Amino acid sequence: MAGPFPPARPRPPGLVAFERARAEVLAGVRPLGAREYALAETHGLVLAEDVAAPEDLPPFANSAMDGFAVRAADVAGASAQRPRRLALRGAVYAGTREPVKVEPGGAARITTGAPLPPGADAVVPLEQAEVVEADPDAEGAAGTGQAVLIRQAVPERGFVREAGEDVPVGTVVLRAGQVLEPAAIGMLAAVGRPRALAHPRPRVAVVATGDELVEPGLPLRPGQIRDSNAVMLAAQARAAGAEAMILPRLRDEPAALRAGFALACAEADAVVTSGGVSVGERDHTGQVLEQLGVRPWRVAMQPGMPQAFGLLGEVPMFGLPGNPVSSFVVFELLVRPALRRIAGHPADRLDRPRVAARLAEPVRSPPGRTSFLRVTLTGAPGALEARLTGPQGSGVLSSCVAAGGLAVVPADADSLPAGAEVEVVVLRQAPGWGG
Ligand code: AMP
Ligand code: MG
Repeated sequence: MAGPFPPARPRPPGLVAFERARAEVLAGVRPLGAREYALAETHGLVLAEDVAAPEDLPPFANSAMDGFAVRAADVAGASAQRPRRLALRGAVYAGTREPVKVEPGGAARITTGAPLPPGADAVVPLEQAEVVEADPDAEGAAGTGQAVLIRQAVPERGFVREAGEDVPVGTVVLRAGQVLEPAAIGMLAAVGRPRALAHPRPRVAVVATGDELVEPGLPLRPGQIRDSNAVMLAAQARAAGAEAMILPRLRDEPAALRAGFALACAEADAVVTSGGVSVGERDHTGQVLEQLGVRPWRVAMQPGMPQAFGLLGEVPMFGLPGNPVSSFVVFELLVRPALRRIAGHPADRLDRPRVAARLAEPVRSPPGRTSFLRVTLTGAPGALEARLTGPQGSGVLSSCVAAGGLAVVPADADSLPAGAEVEVVVLRQAPGWGG
């Protein structure tokens, strides 16, 4: 990697096993303190309190249908051939509280969600009833002057949604650690909460370093390449639930790097840098980070071995290698879980899920390092096949574009035959998985 040049500094000693590196990274970060958020601001945040229902949900017994509130005993045995005739005494609509009482032999119109009126103990759906003119002999002239023919019997409490049927008062409806997805936010509102205590989204500053980097859209001069990592890492941070900002790109100059990193730390809850953490002559990022107390280390993984991780003051800094595939993979496997921990997710929800799959072809892996191979996943869970997306070099970004997962080759294996079972870190759920 350093080419014909001597290394600028000695390699940091030893390799850190991937699992140990992951554990150290997670031990080095902690959740941001919880804050109150208006419900509309909570989507995707992690709840930081248990929420109990202070009242029954629904708060009162109400109709599940548009129809007629009745006494079940009055319509026992009703059928299309032998409808029961009830005097229509009024109407009760959702949102109004009309003093209609359903006496024996009577009925009231009712709409979905309207409180069941006193005296009634069941609802007959509209489709099973027909409103007719009252017969003065049968129903008298009182009430609406109308009667209703009921063509179907209903059991007591039929088509009634009971108070507390969804959530009885006092029930814990959401627990701390829960992600505030749409239904959970709806539940907070349903139990009367205008605000919720949640962990903030981490603000992540992304800083690309490297003299050769050029903004997409500007002309490339000889020797220059596009900066693909900044936007990619920012998107990965957002996909992990963070807010991302891309800071100005930094040149491979210690003073510029120092100033840039200080700025990044002042702005963010976590900083992700790319490039310059290897042993090349111009790899100053790692050196500067080290001077700032952020330790360079070599993680026994492929791709992505040279990295740096540590706290600058309170702010976790992740120095990722510049090769785009290395950056991408290290972010997914080490930065993403850390950001999720900072965002308040519990320990069992930090990593992307893994599935078992069979290799469609033989693979190789450097001995002593855990390899994460970019694969497509086909088939269904239980019978998934993992196939390499193409050449696996750490500069081959196209291998990541197509990847639905990262197949894990354990550190103690230097090759695996076709048909071998591997764990695959799922990056993208395939259609047909029911996800
Ligand atoms: P480094 O980690 O600085 O030694 O860079 C390793 C390789 O990744 C080199 O080929 C760099 O040109 C390339 N590289 C570094 N930063 C980026 C970036 N932001 N976008 C794309 N490639 C990069
Ligand atoms: Mg570089």
